[in-house]
Amino acid sequence: MRHIVPAGGGLAVPLAKGQVLRVVNTHGGQVVDLWAFARAGGDEHLSMGHCRELLQRVYFAPGDRLVTNRYRAALTFTADTSPGLHDTLIAACSPAMYAHLGADPAHRSCTANLEESLNRPLPFVPQPWNLFMVARLDDRGRIEYERPVSRPGDHVELRAEMDLLVGLSSCPDDVYPTNGGDGSPRDVAVEVVRL
Ligand SMILES: [Zn+2]
Repeated sequence: MRHIVPAGGGLAVPLAKGQVLRVVNTHGGQVVDLWAFARAGGDEHLSMGHCRELLQRVYFAPGDRLVTNRYRAALTFTADTSPGLHDTLIAACSPAMYAHLGADPAHRSCTANLEESLNRPLPFVPQPWNLFMVARLDDRGRIEYERPVSRPGDHVELRAEMDLLVGLSSCPDDVYPTNGGDGSPRDVAVEVVRL
């Protein structure tokens, strides 16, 4: 099953345990914010903080098991054809962020994309996994934003370890240098591979 996340827009994809989600950077250089929520309900979600704690790293690699805020396996990172360094630290862009930076608060945002995709406002937006976003740490812990270096067709694959609802946003950020080229968002493709 193939879906398109429109440029600057969002999409929610249900994923059953065992299914593999492939996120394809169709045009290259596009940042994709990703969240995963347990279909069982409650507040259980993929948690970057818990993943960093267990994996003892800020960047994840194929083979890594990614967990929820209850330390249960949510996803296994199974493949990555991109140069990697998918950011795990930076908050999703939001109307408040654009207002804070002097941009139009009505600017599209990953937070609004997630809420629209899920069809409900969220009291709390978890830290997303920012696929293809490069925010390097130097040896003093300073963050350096860089244009993404992912190429057209680069993709990551994630296997669901529980029934999930995955939220994706083709980040519309043109304020930080987090998207490639001129910062204009591009569409990305999402494929659900049935086993
Ligand atoms: Zn964004």
